[in-house]
Amino acid sequence: MSNQSYTIKQCLEMAACTNCQICADECPAVQAVRQGEVSPIYRLQRLQNIFRSRTGGLLQKLFRAKTLSDEQWEIFSKTVFQCTLCGKCQEICPVGIGLKELWLSLRHDLVQSEHYPKKINMVRDNLLESRNVFAEDNEERGEWVEDMDDPPEDLLIREQSEVVYFTGCVAAYFPLAQKIPLALADILLKADVDFSLLGEQEWCCGLPLLNSGLPELFQEFIDHNIAAVKEKGANDVVFACPSCYEIWKKYYPYQANGLRIHHASQYLDTLIEQRKLPLKTLDMTVTYHDPCDLGRGAREFDAPRRVIQAIPGIRFVEMPNNRENCACCGGGGNLEMFDADLTTGIAGAKIEEARSTGADTIVTACQQCVRTMLTYAKRNKVPIQVLDLTQLVQKALAEEDDA
Ligand code: SF4
Ligand code: SF4
Repeated sequence: MSNQSYTIKQCLEMAACTNCQICADECPAVQAVRQGEVSPIYRLQRLQNIFRSRTGGLLQKLFRAKTLSDEQWEIFSKTVFQCTLCGKCQEICPVGIGLKELWLSLRHDLVQSEHYPKKINMVRDNLLESRNVFAEDNEERGEWVEDMDDPPEDLLIREQSEVVYFTGCVAAYFPLAQKIPLALADILLKADVDFSLLGEQEWCCGLPLLNSGLPELFQEFIDHNIAAVKEKGANDVVFACPSCYEIWKKYYPYQANGLRIHHASQYLDTLIEQRKLPLKTLDMTVTYHDPCDLGRGAREFDAPRRVIQAIPGIRFVEMPNNRENCACCGGGGNLEMFDADLTTGIAGAKIEEARSTGADTIVTACQQCVRTMLTYAKRNKVPIQVLDLTQLVQKALAEEDDA
């Protein structure tokens, strides 16, 4: 390991920790397993010790903290990846330590050494060889279009378009998540939006590389995706995946390339405002789960709530933890790959919180949140519906067709 994975700002921030432990109280991983080793403060203190063990002058070297044994490294590394990167610790930290960025730097640091879960090699190989995280044939990225009720002849791959819909890997390949692109494509067609998919020219947004401590491989993905969107002559890019959206917002030079980007919740909000979506009554009690990357990450809390509340008949109820305090569903940070049981534990707490509101439906705005919560609800026979916002709007439009 080396300290080069960290910025000076991060080194200063680490030293500012007051050990108040508020971050541990709020961490969904700690709440699920009740073990201090998965807590942000444990991780931070370990990291501080590691820093002390490999920096400083002679006096510090004489009294320095002991370096970790291989076994201790293994345990520490495991706990670093038992984290959903939900950002709640960062949101809550009273001294403003950028904890989420720190966890990403720590993952990078571990990957530079031999102390990392070997599944990361699979993520790297899949992305470099097939350009999607699942090692699927990238030419099949748009095959879900064939499952539309009335698939257009061009399968939504147009040479030129005003808007590009960037689907993301999970929605493109996971059958459970494909309902989301099917819904959004249906809505965009009904609203007469001139849009295209990128098909095989869409590569993973690159988030799994950052989450896996492989940032140096990221730039190629940025360059390719920007060029693919420009090739369509598009001005706007729409994402139903909050992680793709956040990653574009934070790292892609979209403005320098004359592009505007929108999460689907924002785009639907605008279409509703422009009266392009005639929404009919739905008799439902709905609560909304803020996806971590859309809420705490991209700071979009209002657009999805406006869309839900624009549908007549819906009774909207908030969960006790909402907006910036929303509890993670357990699906982020590639956690499922490293510790599927922890994902299940976190998802269980989330479903219980949603049920406490009396809602019959949890709406979210993320394919990964839908997968995680729906899988838990189905396996445990919890009588609650889980829908993406696009599916909810599609439902309201379908009621219009039936009327
Ligand atoms: S990012 Fe979320 S899961 Fe990870 S340590 Fe912070 S609060 Fe816990
Ligand atoms: S909340 Fe911030 S200051 Fe408090 S223990 Fe956690 S990292 Fe340190």
